[in-house]
Amino acid sequence: MTTCYTRWAEENGMPANLMKKRMFRFYRDAYFNWPGEVSAYITLKSLALLKKPNVFFVNGSYGEKIIAPIVAHFQGLGGTIVQNKKLLSVEHQNGSVQGLVIADPDPKPHESGNKRWTPEVPVLPKTTERITGMDAVIIAIPLDCFKELNRGDAVFWNDSFLKINNISSVATLSWQLWTKEPVLPRLPCAINGLDEPMPTVIDYKHLIDEYRNDARFGSVLEWVGQETGFEEKTDEQIKTIVLNGFKKIPGAKDPMQAGVIKDVFRRNTSHYERYPLTEPGVNKFRPTTTTHFNNLFLSGDWVRNEVDIPNMEGAVASGTEAGNQTIRYLQQ
Ligand SMILES: Cc1cc2nc3c(=O)[nH]c(=O)nc-3n(C[C@H](O)[C@H](O)[C@H](O)COP(=O)(O)OP(=O)(O)OC[C@H]3O[C@@H](n4cnc5c(N)ncnc54)[C@H](O)[C@@H]3O)c2cc1C
Repeated sequence: MTTCYTRWAEENGMPANLMKKRMFRFYRDAYFNWPGEVSAYITLKSLALLKKPNVFFVNGSYGEKIIAPIVAHFQGLGGTIVQNKKLLSVEHQNGSVQGLVIADPDPKPHESGNKRWTPEVPVLPKTTERITGMDAVIIAIPLDCFKELNRGDAVFWNDSFLKINNISSVATLSWQLWTKEPVLPRLPCAINGLDEPMPTVIDYKHLIDEYRNDARFGSVLEWVGQETGFEEKTDEQIKTIVLNGFKKIPGAKDPMQAGVIKDVFRRNTSHYERYPLTEPGVNKFRPTTTTHFNNLFLSGDWVRNEVDIPNMEGAVASGTEAGNQTIRYLQQ
């Protein structure tokens, strides 16, 4: 059955006035589904997992605190990391993956970060290479990047993969702003329910040591949201909407009058940046970690897993499942 959270709650006797409450809005915002509906399953699963709600922040950069130790562990086990290669296609025969075709991404179209990426990241000519001889493969790329693989290959794109094309994604927005003066009262959490298109804001000043211990920063703000309905607006127009909404928070001061140190505004429109939408009914289109190839496994926030929610926990849970399945396959 396909149902959205609002309909599910209505049908199960939730009073109409409660439907307008923050919790409903929160889940649609949190999964970037607003102004669309969000799946009842995803919302209820989130509520179930958040029985004892706690908010965690990485106290530093993700690269240093999370990724570097994992990379070091992997290398300690004898693994090799090959960076900055784009997977272009998967070679297969008789239900087994035999090889991968990769190439170097071409940084020119986005001027090494100064311009927005094109939807598909192009590759440099003459850099294509084949990797063969692997026992098993885990593909952990985002939904829209996966859709780019093996176009026109009916064996790869059999029914179990074809359904993936029904999952939609959204371009998220983020705006980071560092100010000299504090602009928000001290809060241990994010603020939700602000004006679209960026209804969530957080001040990292008191949450992350790097900022807490640095007197140069009064506030370190980050707004997030999604682009739907605002695609035609310029970055500056969106910033104006966001600032007007921000000023409605009790105790908030105008960040533009608080000594802006720097700001970074991002529209995550490229395939590798887009976020999978958890619309009502989406789960039947999401693949599992095992595939119709005996030695190919999938992981990522858009793949079904124990957590099942498109966030970091979901991505990690799918990776753990894919890893365990790979080990079982190799032990057969
Ligand atoms: C603005 C925003 C705020 C968020 N806030 C939170 C939050 O507070 N908490 C939370 O838990 N989650 C949050 N999320 C969601 C979370 O970031 C994702 O769910 C999670 O990072 C997904 O992990 P992943 O490993 O599936 O994919 P990714 O982290 O996207 O990793 C996939 C990698 O594959 C690479 N890649 C793509 N195509 C190819 C290719 N062809 N070949 C080789 N490599 C390729 C990509 O460059 C990328 O490095 C947020 C997301 C956004 C956009």
